[in-house]
Amino acid sequence: MIDFFLNKKTSKLLLVGIAVLSFMVLLGMAALTVALVNVLANSLQFEVYTITYVALVGFAVVLSTATTIVFYIMAKKAQKLIDGLSRVAAGDYSAEIDYRRGDTFTRVYKNFNKMTAELRSVKSLRDDFVHNFSHEIKTPLFSIQGFANLLLEGGLTEEEERKFLTIISVEAGRLGQLADSILLLSKLENQQLLGERTPLKLDAEITDCIIMLEREWDGKHIEIETDLAPVKLEGDGAMLRQVWINLLSNAIKFTPEGGKIEVGLKREGDFAVVKIKDSGMGIAAEDLPRIFEKYYRSASASGTEGNGLGLAICKRVCALAGGDISAESEVGKGSTFTVSLPV
Ligand code: ADP
Repeated sequence: MIDFFLNKKTSKLLLVGIAVLSFMVLLGMAALTVALVNVLANSLQFEVYTITYVALVGFAVVLSTATTIVFYIMAKKAQKLIDGLSRVAAGDYSAEIDYRRGDTFTRVYKNFNKMTAELRSVKSLRDDFVHNFSHEIKTPLFSIQGFANLLLEGGLTEEEERKFLTIISVEAGRLGQLADSILLLSKLENQQLLGERTPLKLDAEITDCIIMLEREWDGKHIEIETDLAPVKLEGDGAMLRQVWINLLSNAIKFTPEGGKIEVGLKREGDFAVVKIKDSGMGIAAEDLPRIFEKYYRSASASGTEGNGLGLAICKRVCALAGGDISAESEVGKGSTFTVSLPV
């Protein structure tokens, strides 16, 4: 009933119709009552006003009982909502309201439960962020502090001073990168869609990224072989570039001097499929299911630079773009990362 009146689609005309109809029904009932009172007065030999009085009292009792019951039910339903809101206001986001299907308050309760679910996810994101940030930030910060103290104590050779200053500079750079990655990932985790979609030539985008990283792969004498079919799609170019840069950087990072990286792009049905295959150290079978987790780094990666957020960012970007990312690998032989995006 309440749903019906709250429904925006219910036309005003229909409501006017209902009002007119109710009025006519009431009028009919009144006429019927008057007729009934007359008949009863005649047959029972009672005064008309006595019967009218009894009828009115009976009507009042029925009406007040019905109204009390309706208000009682409504108050109980509203109380559920008030209790839930009080819990949320006190910071308890686990609050949920039980409801039965078809309940008049169902929509309100459903939205309440959606709201608390959203609050719970924001809270866990915040806790996660605070925990990881403080944990991951400590190592480079201690290092910076330690070397800065050594420099302050003095008595160092010029060579030592230069070395410690270099370490401080590198660690500060790592901190900056970590902050950028954490902020980007938390932003991606909080959004349901990528940014503005523009027409992209995926082959040209990937080629640009390969050129951008030339210093790194050329420095390690790594051969890059490309087989890029011309594929166009609409997407958030800047975000997708994060994926290509992360995957290519990893391939370069985990491939030894003189190795080879193959980059392929083709269209498969409604998807653009990008494959980045390296001849690097590979990923152990027990690590493979976990590499897309935030901050996860395999033990064998401990000697390399990184914060374990790159693949988590790639996964989130691919998911937001309606695509997917997966990895296959064999230790000692290399890894292949496959990204598929809807065209
Ligand atoms: P990072 O590279 O900063 O450590 P990522 O999230 O990019 O973080 O990668 C997570 C982990 O996955 C790496 O630490 C490494 O153990 C593994 N990994 C990713 N790419 C490769 C690759 N091409 N070859 C071998 N291991 C890889």
